[in-house]
Amino acid sequence: MERLEGMIRDKIQHVNENIAVAAGQRLLAGFPIKLMGASKTQPPIIISEAIQAGLLLYGENRVEEAADKWPALRASFPHVRVEMIGPLQSKKAKEAVALFDRIQSVDRLSLIEALAKEMQKQGRQVPILIQVNTGEEPQKGGVIPADAHALIKSAQAYGLTVEGLMCIPPADANPAPHFALLRQMAAEHGLPELSMGMSGDFEEAIKFGATIVRVGSAIFGERT
Ligand SMILES: *Cc1c(COP(=O)(O)O)cnc(C)c1O
Repeated sequence: MERLEGMIRDKIQHVNENIAVAAGQRLLAGFPIKLMGASKTQPPIIISEAIQAGLLLYGENRVEEAADKWPALRASFPHVRVEMIGPLQSKKAKEAVALFDRIQSVDRLSLIEALAKEMQKQGRQVPILIQVNTGEEPQKGGVIPADAHALIKSAQAYGLTVEGLMCIPPADANPAPHFALLRQMAAEHGLPELSMGMSGDFEEAIKFGATIVRVGSAIFGERT
């Protein structure tokens, strides 16, 4: 465990150094870039090592998995934040609203309706990001760019706090045009948060203005 702890700490430090290099003047100009640990499949023992190494923001992909892991982790570490970054079924809106500090994967009207209803019921405002399927891949979540404007307006009309946009570019493509598109769309709507960039491309995403990078394997190692 001694070695494991040192390893995760080193990896977080390494990623943070690479973020700082990619950010350059932006960090000095006071635009902080948040590192999110993509902690899907990671057990609590590993996550708690990362928390103790100073990483305080996490993203989970599945409601059930998050519900199993995070209540106990939050009890031990009340200052951590956990956000939903995976596909979300409307029937899980209740659990998601209760569990997460923000939901990044909002991509359709039916989900907006379900979330708005639950937030009202629970008296809890959970901010959201709209996920945009910049590559228009059929198997991937996210609203297609042509429909994003209407969806953002709908979410706002339902009283949701839309803080920004999120995307996952196609795995085999140059991500740069996808990051550029997301930045342009966020700017058009005056949305501050840009969640883009993963282990393989977070430096590139930062060059295109990412405010949140979601990093899994570069911190926790390859998922098995
Ligand atoms: C798993 C995951 C990541 C992190 O992926 P890595 O390549 O391991 O860094 C980021 N975002 C989402 C939505 C993910 O599901």
